[in-house]
Amino acid sequence: MARRTTTPWTIPLSSLSTTPGHSQDVDVTMPAPTGIGDDVIGVREGADVAVRGRIDSVVDGVLLTADVTAPVHASCSRCLTPLDHDWTTSITMFFPYDSSAIRDDAGDDELDIIAGEEESGDVYPLCDDGATMSLEAPLRDTLAEMLPLQPLCRENCKGLCPECGLNLNDNPGHHHDVTDIRFAELQGLRDRLLNQTEDQTEDQTEKGTINDVDKDDGAKD
Ligand SMILES: [Zn+2]
Ligand SMILES: [Zn+2]
Repeated sequence: MARRTTTPWTIPLSSLSTTPGHSQDVDVTMPAPTGIGDDVIGVREGADVAVRGRIDSVVDGVLLTADVTAPVHASCSRCLTPLDHDWTTSITMFFPYDSSAIRDDAGDDELDIIAGEEESGDVYPLCDDGATMSLEAPLRDTLAEMLPLQPLCRENCKGLCPECGLNLNDNPGHHHDVTDIRFAELQGLRDRLLNQTEDQTEDQTEKGTINDVDKDDGAKD
């Protein structure tokens, strides 16, 4: 197992003593792994992901504590406003020297034990017999978990007008007179009554000046 696999996500641990209490700073920029989110929301493959923090030697492995910052592309799920900006999340991950107990898909007993542990998902194996760690899987998991299912531009985003698509955040007073089919009939009645009143008013003001035009109203007289 002396195979050395260096990827863009490899962090060498050669300068880190295995004596508990020793630590090594981490300040790297790595490409985003593939498969984080989708076209609607996600982190594009190869985008710069910054990892800043430290790696600590503990008794049975090393602990990575860091802030991960990645450019997320998304749009508000209500008003479709683009929400492209850097998102930062804090991670704490454990890389045990003995990785035989991690995610042993072959044994059901093992799975049950791991499922019972808290934050078992934040445990990853070391590489190259403990000489390096790879952040590819940890970054993919972290960034995928970070993405909200329904991103919002603001907590109380008003969304788009269902009738005409206008952004209601920019037009708070916007409304349409008839918004409910049940009120459409009443609305029509109201309009007819208003028109009738206007007609009568016109009739009265114009009475005596234009007699021949209003033949429809002749029955009233
Ligand atoms: Zn919005
Ligand atoms: Zn509208």
